[in-house]
Amino acid sequence: MTLSRLKQDIFWFRISRMHDCIVCGNKTLSKVIELGFHPIADTFLKKEQVFKPQKLYPLNCLLCRQCGHLQNEYVVPPEERYVENEYSYTASNSKISCAHWQEYCDTVSQYINLSPQDHVIEFGSNDGILLEYFTKKGAKATGIDPSPSMAKLAAKRGVYTVNSFLGKTALSVALKRGGKAKLICGNNVFNHIFNLNESVAAASQALRPDGYFVFESPYLKDTIENYLFDMIYHEHISYFSIKSADYLFKKHGLYITNIEHNKYHGGCIRVYAQKDLALYNKKLVTDYIKAEQASKLFSLETYKKFMAKIAKDKFATLNQIYALKKQGKKIAAIGAATKGNTLMNYYKLDSNTIDFVTDSSPQKIGKYTPGSYLPILHDRKLASEKVDVGLIISWNIGRFLAEKIKKINKNIRLIVPGEKKLL
Ligand SMILES: [Zn+2]
Repeated sequence: MTLSRLKQDIFWFRISRMHDCIVCGNKTLSKVIELGFHPIADTFLKKEQVFKPQKLYPLNCLLCRQCGHLQNEYVVPPEERYVENEYSYTASNSKISCAHWQEYCDTVSQYINLSPQDHVIEFGSNDGILLEYFTKKGAKATGIDPSPSMAKLAAKRGVYTVNSFLGKTALSVALKRGGKAKLICGNNVFNHIFNLNESVAAASQALRPDGYFVFESPYLKDTIENYLFDMIYHEHISYFSIKSADYLFKKHGLYITNIEHNKYHGGCIRVYAQKDLALYNKKLVTDYIKAEQASKLFSLETYKKFMAKIAKDKFATLNQIYALKKQGKKIAAIGAATKGNTLMNYYKLDSNTIDFVTDSSPQKIGKYTPGSYLPILHDRKLASEKVDVGLIISWNIGRFLAEKIKKINKNIRLIVPGEKKLL
């Protein structure tokens, strides 16, 4: 280990234990969610990695009693999350996600009145799918993303990516390329960033005076009300409410002017913010915060109920699985998703109970799930391996998967952990 690496580790060790709120700096935080120890959820393992030790990190969440932000207690260094391990989540991983980003591009372009040649910058641009859509509308698009594998995929689409963490250098490269932005997008990315205040400040600086910052993230209210505990993992550091987003943006001179709510990933908020205080949509923001308060989103009792319910669901599903195993049934988990890894590790599922996991992504097939060490095979194996029961762990695209799986193996019985509704 080099000295600089050691210093970096000590730095992260220290900040991971600073229990200040990463939005407002408040020190009064309550530990409200405890899911045990987990590996990084979105690093599917290559065969040779299965024979090596794997790090586990505590997966607990803290609630800020001031701004209502929910954040992970332990923060895994970003280099470990995105650079040292091959990041495998692609934004274009299913027809449903491609349709979502097309809708995003159409809706946002219309709302902000995007003109050809306007500069669009995306933080966490992943495989470039969204920017490709904006390019088709004539915009000049620049992505910023730290994952080398994602930057390569984006390049294949013809999308320019600054392959780096978001910071002054990356931003200056983007600005030199296309000038200040009419639109800055940060989708499912601000919930991955530890230095939230610096990143929102960067967005504010890189925007034109008439520019829009559009942020999309899983919505804490949906996560908690629908017991979506598997949306919690180490790549997600933050779980946003409108209360905490409003607090954060205002600190950096960005004012929420519009909010849309969609069903992506079990419920996301799409928040539009602009620099002009006169455009602040106070009524809409207040209505959202009132609804969050009415559902007791910031109350400790809510999280006690949440923990009790997810434990009860776990035992019910495990009983069901054990009964099927007693009958000698072959069980496969369907959809090698990050959220599925939180679920399988919280449920302690592994090769004693599940035969393998199936997926259709070439980035995942042939690899193994972290923690549960299950091989990922092509969906077709559900028929050729005569699987009796499919455990749908990717409930967010569950209806689509159920239809697809029934065509592959019409005799398969599908079960859903915790009887979650399939979307
Ligand atoms: Zn706070």
